[in-house]
Amino acid sequence: MEFEERRKILIDSLKVNGISDRVLDAMMRVPRHFFVPEELQDSAYIDLPLPIGYDQTISAPHMVAIMCELLDISSGMKILEVGSGSGYNAAVMAELVGDKGHIYTVERIPELAYFAEKNIKRAGYKNVTVIQDDGSCGLAEHEPYDRISVTSAAPEVPRPLIEQLATEGIMAIPVGNGEQQLVVVKKDIEGSISYKVWGGVIFVPLIGKYGY
Ligand code: SAM
Repeated sequence: MEFEERRKILIDSLKVNGISDRVLDAMMRVPRHFFVPEELQDSAYIDLPLPIGYDQTISAPHMVAIMCELLDISSGMKILEVGSGSGYNAAVMAELVGDKGHIYTVERIPELAYFAEKNIKRAGYKNVTVIQDDGSCGLAEHEPYDRISVTSAAPEVPRPLIEQLATEGIMAIPVGNGEQQLVVVKKDIEGSISYKVWGGVIFVPLIGKYGY
């Protein structure tokens, strides 16, 4: 079966999770097989995380869909992603923000920052910038961000990320060691912060100054 056909079956299967057509359509446009190591291409359209080297993973498609849904991403937004990994999640968000928006994605491991950049370029996205650094400190150069997506689990929500979130902004971040909860952080128009727990998740740890 062709990759596109497999992708359609996968995306159709995600509808049961209550994911909007907007997010599903964006995922339908991203060739996930470009974002996994060559020997795993055949597994690219199975709803599972896959190893990408350096003890890290590309997140499962349903998790990418849920994070994008919680973030309520619109066209033109500026988004910070902490944990580029393969670059796949950044590419899905790039589809959602369109040409007028931008994704800044920070990866701690130099080889993975290179991997993500190569994959994103190959897939043709021009509205994504990959930066190799400790993303637990955020990325002060381009703040504030309309949305922040953290794809590794932190001991608590890093203070710089709260500071760099725009008013009326939303952040999704896994929090906890062992037992992790996906937390949705909102900053209202006056700058007040609220927290809502979505549910249990499993992510690799955020390693860095405000991580483990
Ligand atoms: N979003 C990725 C994708 O679509 O493939 C999956 C990310 S993977 C689950 C988590 C990533 O977070 C890993 O690549 C890991 O190296 C990275 N990471 C961990 N701590 C980090 C930090 N302090 N700054 C930036 N990246 C970090």
